[in-house]
Amino acid sequence: MTEGVTVVDHPLVQHKLTWMRAKDTPSPLFRMLLKEIALLLAYEVTRDLKLTETEIETPLQPMRSPVIDGKKFCLISILRAGNGLLEGMMDLVPNAPVGHIGLYRDHETLEAVEYYFKVPSHLEERMTIVVDPMLATGHTAVAALTRLKQAGAKNLRFVCLLTVPEGIKELRAAHPDVPIFTAAIDERLNEKGYILPGLGDAGDRIYGTK
Ligand code: URA
Repeated sequence: MTEGVTVVDHPLVQHKLTWMRAKDTPSPLFRMLLKEIALLLAYEVTRDLKLTETEIETPLQPMRSPVIDGKKFCLISILRAGNGLLEGMMDLVPNAPVGHIGLYRDHETLEAVEYYFKVPSHLEERMTIVVDPMLATGHTAVAALTRLKQAGAKNLRFVCLLTVPEGIKELRAAHPDVPIFTAAIDERLNEKGYILPGLGDAGDRIYGTK
């Protein structure tokens, strides 16, 4: 196990991931599988989420019972493929506020350029879970995490579907405080920065834009 990286190798996750990888899986099924895996990844990444107590009444008597404190948590999607993972996570924690970050890669400078940034308030008080299905070169993820830290985030986690050793190394070098949760660590990147064996372009496969 690589330090700071949790591979969620539950059989349900691995089974669903196989059908996401298969090139003939159509977009509606791809989206459904991504959403189902997101639920299972969310379960793992929120394992130590802080609870608070609330007063309720069971049919038999009053009691204080644990609930997630919505003020202590948020989800951030890196556009556009992040939204595919986000959906499943939102189903599991519907009260979590959600932020979006849009970044593109400048072909000349190869730097990540921000075109959209809208995140919940008081990031410094929240566990901030950043989602993007593919942690490939790591450049976008590093830029997003840097930007979130500038905006106050202190307790960050990164959730992806697939990654490679190159992406893990890049992210962990820049942000050693940010644990990574993934469904699999693949072999390597190709010359165009795609994950091998991977699943192709996650955004295209989610939205059918090939
Ligand atoms: N982004 C993708 O969508 N796929 C990859 O393989 C790498 C980055």
